[in-house]
Formats: sequence, C-alpha cells, structure tokens
Amino acid sequence: MCGIAGYIGKKEGLPIVFTNLRKLEYRGYDSAGVAFFDFRGNGKLIKTVGKLDNLEKLIKNKKSLPLTAVVGHTRWATHGVPNKANAHPHADCDGKIFLVHNGIIENYQELKESLIKKGHNFRSQTDTEVAAHLVEEYGFEPALKKIVGAYALAVIYKNDPGKIYVARLGSPLVVGVGQDEYYVASDPTALAGLVKKVIYLKDGQRGVLSLNSMLIGPARPKIEPLDIDPEQAQKGDFPHFMLKEIFEGPEVLLSALRGRLMPDKGIVKLGGLEGVADQLRKVDKMEILACGTSYYSGLVGELLFEEFARIPTEVLLASEYRYRKLPVKKGTGALFISQSGETADTLAALRKANNHKLLTLGIVNAVGSSIARETKAGVYNHAGPEIGVASTKAFLSQLGVLTLMSLYFNPRKTKNHKEFLEELAAIPLKIRSILKESNQIKTLAKKYLKYNNFLYLGRGYNYPTALEGALKLKEISYVHAEGYAGGEMKHGPIALIDKNFPTIAVVTKNLVYEKMISNLEEIKARSGPILAIATAGDKKIAKLADDVFYVPKTAEPLEAMLNIIPLQLFAYYFGTLRGHDVDKPRNLAKSVTVE
Ligand code: GLU
Repeated sequence: MCGIAGYIGKKEGLPIVFTNLRKLEYRGYDSAGVAFFDFRGNGKLIKTVGKLDNLEKLIKNKKSLPLTAVVGHTRWATHGVPNKANAHPHADCDGKIFLVHNGIIENYQELKESLIKKGHNFRSQTDTEVAAHLVEEYGFEPALKKIVGAYALAVIYKNDPGKIYVARLGSPLVVGVGQDEYYVASDPTALAGLVKKVIYLKDGQRGVLSLNSMLIGPARPKIEPLDIDPEQAQKGDFPHFMLKEIFEGPEVLLSALRGRLMPDKGIVKLGGLEGVADQLRKVDKMEILACGTSYYSGLVGELLFEEFARIPTEVLLASEYRYRKLPVKKGTGALFISQSGETADTLAALRKANNHKLLTLGIVNAVGSSIARETKAGVYNHAGPEIGVASTKAFLSQLGVLTLMSLYFNPRKTKNHKEFLEELAAIPLKIRSILKESNQIKTLAKKYLKYNNFLYLGRGYNYPTALEGALKLKEISYVHAEGYAGGEMKHGPIALIDKNFPTIAVVTKNLVYEKMISNLEEIKARSGPILAIATAGDKKIAKLADDVFYVPKTAEPLEAMLNIIPLQLFAYYFGTLRGHDVDKPRNLAKSVTVE
C-alpha cells in the first residue's frame, strides 16, 4: 500500500534508496526502514516509527557498498500496530534474508501457524513477516506459490548480496532499468529523473536483478519509456489527490473485501471480530457513533444492520452522544467509525461507551490509531492513506465494511444470499464503469456551475448518499448544498425551489423509485432544474429530469456504493472549475483531533 525502494548497481545504494523513499512520502506512512548487507556480510537492518527524518538520523553514519543491494520501505500498517518491530524490512530467523512488502497476505494466520510448528521465530505481528520465513523455509519462488493475497515484494540475501528478488501480485512494483544498475519502486514517480526505461511488473511476474543482468518471468518483461514530470509525479496522472482517490475506488473496495467475502462458500469472514463472536450474538441493539462523512456511512450501516443482521440500530453523532443521558442497556453494541481513528469526538464517545461496559467495535482505516486500540474489536478498512481532506475513498470502503459486518452478524441466510454476495463482489467493476464516464460529470458540473444553492434528494439507502453528496459540494466548492430525504422535501425545503435552485436527485430503480418520481414531479412543477442519478435503461426519468447520469443496476442495499461516485465527481469538478484547491479546502483539517 505504501512505499518500496530498492537499488543494485555501481553506486552506493543507501542514499539512493533513502531519497526514493522521500519521493514516496506523499503516500502517507507510519514507519520506515532500510536493509542491506555490509562487506563482511553483516546484515544492517535499520527501522524506526514515524517520519523519514527519524530514519535519516539513524542512517547518517552508515554506508552501503557499491554492488550491494539495498531495500527500503515506508509502511502503512494493515496488520499490527505501527511500531519498530512491525516496520519493514522483515528478516528470516537468522537475519540472512531481508524483505519488504506492500499489500496484504490474506492467509498469513495459517501460514504463520505452520511455520511456527516448523520452528520459526516471529518478531512482529505483521502479515509480511510470514513471507520472510516462507522464503527461508522454501525458497523464493515456492514461497510465492503459498501466498494468497496481494503483494509487491523485494528480497535480498546475505549469501548473494548483489541481487534483488522481486515479485508482484495485485500491488504495483516497477523496475527502473539503468546503465549497469536497477532500481525497484512501488511507484514510477520515485524513478523520475533517474532512469529513462522501466518495467511495470505484471501480476504473477517475478524476477531477479543483479548488476548487469535481469531475469524476469514467466511473462516476458516489457521495457517502456518513463516519461514523468517529477513535480506532477506524486499524483500520478491526476491533477489532485481527491480525483486520484475517487479513481482508486474499485481497488479500495476490492481491498476491503479481500479475504473477507467468499461468495463461492456463501460466507463472510471478519477476523477482527472473531474474538468477540459470542458476545456479538447476544447484542440486541446497535449504536453507531461517528462524525461527518463517517456518520453518513453509519446511516447506510443502520439500514444494512436492520435489513441483514435484523438488529435495531441507531446512528448517533459522536459529539452529541457524549452529552446525552441515554439509558445504558446491557446487550447494546457500540460501533465507532473513523478514518483516522483519532477523531476527538468519536474517541471521547468511545471512552464513555467503554466506561459503560458496552461491547465497543470499530471501523477504522488507520491501524493502531487510538480508536482501533481502545475498541474491543473491529475491522480495518484497508483503504490506504487518504490525502485529500474531503473523504472519498474512505467513505466507500466504510460502506464495504459495513455491508460485510451486517452479513457477518447474521449467519441466518436470506433467500438470495449467495447472489447478493456475488453482486457485492461485482461492485468494484461497476464502479469502474461509472468512472469511465467521468467526463459526462465534468460537463454537467460546467452546466450547473452558475448555481449557488443545491438540494440533494434521496430516499432509503440513498438518503445518506444525498447527505454525503451535499457535504462534498459544501466542503470543496463552498456552495450551499442541503441533503434531504425525498419525502421530507415537501415539509419545508420545497419553499426554496424555483428556477435558480437545482435539485440533484438520486433516483435509482428500487423500492422507493416511484415515490422519488413523485417528489421530482413536485419540483418540476415549481420550475426547479433537476439532475438525476438514475439506473441505466430508465427512460421515464429522462422525460422528467433536465439531465441524467446513468449508473449500473445493482441490489438496493449496495446502491450507495455506486451512487456516491458521480456525486463525488460532481463536487470535485464543480470545486476545481470554480478555482478552489480541492485537496485542501479552507477551514478544514484531515483529522479532526479537537472537540
Ligand atoms: N501488510 C503489511 C503490513 O502491515 C504491508 C503494509 C504496507 O503495504 O505498507 O506491514
């Protein structure tokens, strides 16, 4: 998920690797490290928590030799808190192998147990360390065959310190091809200005790089020109992190579902909740506590829990919960949602719930954060670091995890259980198809740019979608936008409607479709412009709305994951067209650590 850097060549590798890690810094990380073997074959493994400045101090007087491979890593924890032991590189039992990894090893628990039985000693809580011991036990290639999950790997050996072994499955890895030298990086941006030729490893490709040879297979490696402006490089092909993160949606959701959703077996597995499985079964009411975007994902969660887990659920603003005098009832579960895991209001609410001895659970993106530590159990989003201040990909992954949780709670399977799981697995592809039409949204944003007020309407699962869509527009374009439940519109906001007050309506084909249509008729009768998000093939809406953006059909409880994408894109284009810095909206902070 975060950064890998490696070098083998005639130059001293350590400063090169360190500088390349710096170039990957923008991706966010919680700890970092480097490793190499010195001229006596002594392993040097230098790691630290926190910023690269800390690592820089530790490597100040260290030298690596030319012709000796060096690997480095910035970690964004997925398994095990961010501490020194969990930082990469990881080593085998004897310190003869050093390895860095991006991604997630899904079957690490089983692998670890079998390696421990064979006498391996583990020093960290990471999934990654398993890979180091696997390589020790079986060798590089056979080890790869045992891993289920996603990886970009770079490995160096004491016995052969002039080589870097690399492999990729699901997580990006690039080899930079220089004159008698090779670079390894998780992102080509790190290589800009250093080499002109690169190989983007393909899934399943692996190889070994040494001073003047390169062996990559089984598919023949394709050497491509590297043409990157280092300035722009960090954001890849995207002008802003926000857009980049919206486009990461399909991968983000895949990584939230990976190893957890098993449609073929008809089950959902959530390792993070296994420890409290018995207690969960006794939960008869769920409270969801969160702020901002996470609160809105909680509102979707409420409907999911009611529909699938059949648990009465209430969503509460964490900042309000603290001061409410809610009766404490045994058997209540409290679920806290926070991207950073440090949201002050949510954390304070969690402490109150812990004092009341409720079963506290978390959905958190940042591993090892305060909320992750202080809840009794939970599920990580695995969305990777989110840099844009206005949350996009974290929201999507929260919806994914909430869907999994609601299914996990309820082993009693509904009629179309398997089909539903299959449909959930298909959502990433459907998001991809929406993203392909992003230009349409840009055109629509241009058309609506003149308006300074917006009403966002939705019902059922799309009511929270409407709220989140409106929040996105407010956050990054500073335009007034109100999210409302379709049916409530006539109880007040309808007074606002005229030809200068457009409505963005989420009106996909579901249980409440006809009701939404009636609401939109009411708006139309008052000359309000309508931009509709509708289901592909819906002809009726085209007659009613001024503009329509079509999304693929899916099961109603999954609709929010699709419908939010055009709304995020609309806010993005609207904000940028108005000339705002959408990555750093005024007055907002990424992680709200004050109450
Ligand atoms: N899953 C690994 C860990 O938690 C790798 C994380 C990363 O890609 O930075 O250490």
